Amino acid sequence: MTVAANVQGQASLDAHEAEVVARVHATVRDDVRAMHAYAVPRSEGLIKLDAMENPYPLPADVRAKIAAAVANVAVNRYPDAAAESTKQALRHAFALGDGVEIVLGNGSDELIAMLTALVARPGATIVAPEPSFVMYRVSAAIANVRYVGVPLGADFALDVDAMLAAIARDRPALVWLAFPNNPTGNLFDIAAIESVIRAAPGLVAIDEAYYAFANRSFLLRAREFSNVIVVRTVSKIGMAALRLGYAVGDPAWMRELEKLRPPYNVNALTQAVAPLLLAEEALLAGQAKAICAERERVAAALAALPGVRGWPTHTNFVLARFADADATFDHLRDAGILVKNMHGTHPSLANCLRITVGTPAENDALLHALGALS
Ligand code: PMP
Repeated sequence: MTVAANVQGQASLDAHEAEVVARVHATVRDDVRAMHAYAVPRSEGLIKLDAMENPYPLPADVRAKIAAAVANVAVNRYPDAAAESTKQALRHAFALGDGVEIVLGNGSDELIAMLTALVARPGATIVAPEPSFVMYRVSAAIANVRYVGVPLGADFALDVDAMLAAIARDRPALVWLAFPNNPTGNLFDIAAIESVIRAAPGLVAIDEAYYAFANRSFLLRAREFSNVIVVRTVSKIGMAALRLGYAVGDPAWMRELEKLRPPYNVNALTQAVAPLLLAEEALLAGQAKAICAERERVAAALAALPGVRGWPTHTNFVLARFADADATFDHLRDAGILVKNMHGTHPSLANCLRITVGTPAENDALLHALGALS
């Protein structure tokens, strides 16, 4: 190609690209163009203490069972649209009565989006305490629903008065309560939650992503109220890769939510593996117990470090404030450990890191790097 042809080719490519950019600009919602995609940092080769995963690999016999189950999946067919075996496994694992229905999501992230869409009437408002799980706000923004964050009180307790005032003022169609809360790790006071439920004119969704590490739950209480559903996930109990969330509640709520579920949203490999793992009750309970024991060790060691402040946690992570979270985050990453830097995400999380509890060896590496172990 001649130089002139090259220059001409480049010019028409540039013109084409400019045309594409102009069309994107003219077509895509302004607020979407102003958003950032959910960023997941690279973690290759690092000890991964950033995403509340279960750190334990599965034993060989369970992996062999998974391999056999997956080998039999007809990948040329769509999965069971109702995902009946997965729902049955959940019913059995959590002793759910016949009075409740289940709606499944591709992770509870999808259920959060579906619940947001469920109430997204013009003029609707969604309320959640803050800081809490970011997807409540993000899903509201995506669905164009007004979102009101109500600051948590001292030590991240639910500020009942502020919540009740927001409920009276904004009449929210949906209130989110993460129980225990992410990223703060605490369980809100049960009486405080009950008064929010009683005051709320619409739905209250209790997000129990971390139920396995807490000793309180609303799962079997959902039908005590006319406006409560419980959302959960298998992600934190060792199945993050499966992407399976479940909402549990009165059939009248669930029938409406089911209408928003994308067809075949739970894939066949997940449907083959989840029931098998949910049946491994002793294994799951043993891992959760080990994580809770390690959590206490890590929390105590962090709190004993000079200049570090930790908060009580009922999850598989510890929130702690450091003198300089950015510097500590960088230092840990240089030492091969990835945690979550919460600094800058909310004023009350200044200089805070959220550290997922790992295996004993991973936690030792963390504590060594912080100078908490000699
Ligand atoms: N809810 C809470 C409170 C969470 O912390 C998370 C995960 N960070 C989720 C929901 C989403 O979990 P998943 O989509 O993996 O089910």
